[in-house]
Order: sequence, then C-alpha cells, then structure tokens
Amino acid sequence: MENSIESWITPSPTVIDLEEILVNAIQKMGARKIGAILVTENDKLAGIFTERDLLRMFSDNTEKAFKEHLLRPIREFMTASPICAKSKEDYNTVYARMKTHNIRHIPILEGEKLVGIVSMRDLIHHYQNRLETAVNEARQEIEELKKLATVANGEKVETLIKEVQKYKELSLTDHLTGLFNKRYFQTRIVEEVSRARRSSFELSLIFCDIDHFKRINDRFGHQIGDDVLRTTARLLSGSIDQLNIIYRLRKSDIIARYGGEEFVIILPETGKRGAITVAERLREKIADYTFKLAEEDVHMTMSFGIAELSPTDKDHSEIIKNADYAMYKAKNSGRNRVAVYPSDDNQT
Ligand code: GH3
Ligand code: MG
Ligand code: MG
Repeated sequence: MENSIESWITPSPTVIDLEEILVNAIQKMGARKIGAILVTENDKLAGIFTERDLLRMFSDNTEKAFKEHLLRPIREFMTASPICAKSKEDYNTVYARMKTHNIRHIPILEGEKLVGIVSMRDLIHHYQNRLETAVNEARQEIEELKKLATVANGEKVETLIKEVQKYKELSLTDHLTGLFNKRYFQTRIVEEVSRARRSSFELSLIFCDIDHFKRINDRFGHQIGDDVLRTTARLLSGSIDQLNIIYRLRKSDIIARYGGEEFVIILPETGKRGAITVAERLREKIADYTFKLAEEDVHMTMSFGIAELSPTDKDHSEIIKNADYAMYKAKNSGRNRVAVYPSDDNQT
C-alpha cells in the first residue's frame, strides 16, 4: 500500500532479554546510539525501555538508589505491553497513535513476530517530503491559473505571479531533479553540525560533480543534459538501480542538488571511513551506468570530495569548504575518484 508504514521500518531492532540487567540495556543503547531498546522474552516482545525512561529514573532517584537499579533486571523498568503497530498499517494512523500517546518509538509486529521498529524522527522526515509535494502541487496549480488569466486581467496576473514567487521561496526541492535544493541543504547542515556536536556524533559531507558535463551539453544539447542530471539524481539517491548494483543511501542521509551538476550528501552519524565507502559505491554506480542519449550509449563519471566534521571546525562552513576542496583535488588528480580532506592516509 502506498501510504503504509512499511518503508519506514528499521528492521532487526536492538533487543534485550527481560532478565538482563539494566546496565546492559543502557550499554547497548549507548553503543548503538539508539533511543529505545526492545525487551523480549523467548523472542517475543515483552516491553520497551527508552532514553526517556532512563532520564526519569535518574532524576527520580538518589545516586545510590540509581546505582542499585543498574544491577536489577530490565523487566522491572520497562514499559510492559507497549503500544505497537503492524507493518501494513497506514502512515497517518501510526503517526497519530504515536502523537496521542506521546511516544517516539513504536515496535512493529507481524502477528506475534517482532519485525522492526519505527521512530518518530523517520516519520517526520517522510512528512516533510509530503508537505513539499503538496507545496509543489499548489505551485503547479497556480501556474495553470496564471495561464488561464487573461492579459486584460493584468492586476490579477501580477498578484498570481507574486504568489508563485512566494511558493518558490518556500520550496525545499530542486525543480529539475526533485532532490532537496541548496537552501534546504544550508539549513540542514547547520542543524546536523550542531546535533553532531551536542551528541558527539560523527558527521561527514560528500560533494560530487559530474566530470566533463559541458561535453554532454555541447554534444547533445541542454534538454538531454537536463535528462542526464535527473537520472544522475536518481542514481545517487538510489531510486534507480541497474543490474545487481543495488545501493541506497540511508534514510537519515540528506542528498541535495547544490547547483549545476554538483550534488551534496550529508551523512549524519558517519565518519570518514563510512563516507569513503558510500562515495566509492556511488562513484562505481555512476561509472557503470549506461546512459541512452539520442540512441547512443554514453558513459559518464563523477568526482567525489569528502570531509568529516572536526572538533576544530569553527562552524558548519568549514566542512563545506573542506569537502569542496577535496572534490577539486579529485578533479585535479584525474577525475572519476574519491578524495578526502585532509588526505592523511593515502586515500585519494
Ligand atoms: P569538470 O569535470 O571540471 O567538472 O568539467 P565540467 O564540464 O563538468 O565543468 P564545468 O563547470 O566547466 O561545466 C559545467 C557545465 O554544466 C556548464 C553548464 O552549462 C552545465 N550546467 C549547469 N547547470 C545545468 C543545468 O541545469 N542543465 C544543463 N543541461 N546543464 C547545466
Ligand atoms: Mg563538472
Ligand atoms: Mg561544476
């Protein structure tokens, strides 16, 4: 079903047996940087324990009492029989249930079988995309109306043009590719940098640019150039795959068109190593893809630059500058490659 919760499920969630002690649950949550852990009994869901429960316990107890709790079984602290959802349930229904009960994590069951977990954060992300679609549709309607309005109605046309302009300013997506636009990227990078700093998470940024794109435009014209940009966007974001090269970005990754034939990907909770893996896979995926342009098979490559947030970065502009710099290094050293800033370990 188009609106089902299914695609928002994180499968194989972290679980802990209900006889295990609280400190083990906390350690698991910390190690995996997750906000909730599911408690099971003989592989069946028995409860949930969240960071909110932990905070409450901590603030309700003296240090001594809290320490004693750490060695007691998790079943004493979990919420038993938590509110659940089924994987085929409708997005809105699940969202509303989480809102009503003020919960941030919901286990997903298939009969009695635990199949995954859905977090509020993922749902909100999805909601943003839907809002954006609605704004786009409204904008299109206005464009249509504008066409219908007669020149005699000059004043009305003016108002409508202003209206369209307003929608354009509200827009978060790039018209050509449907990816997020530079404006959205700029707000998100500020947010993600401060979130990474607050929680001591890693954060990486990938800049990528099509190699010799001008040649495509010169040879096939701008229209086909635009098609190539659209296809590239879909290859990078993972909405098309060729043969067995199936590779998708994570749901939490944010991909945007930065301008022209340049794209950026924010990778929250990912260090340099992980970013290199992602970029290498994307580089290969693009290089292996056969573009059909005016009945011709064309191959194309991209250059990738990576930077990781460093504690010494003065603000978000640093990681952008560094990723951009790394990308130019990739260009200068021959294109169709991944370069990292700083290149401290022979990764070019
Ligand atoms: P390099 O490998 O150094 O990146 O070479 P390049 O030719 O890709 O780079 P350059 O920056 O010289 O040219 C980029 C070209 O991208 C120039 C411009 O015409 C084209 N371009 C930018 N935006 C669009 C667009 O929206 N549609 C089309 N069709 N072309 C675009
Ligand atoms: Mg280029
Ligand atoms: Mg460029």
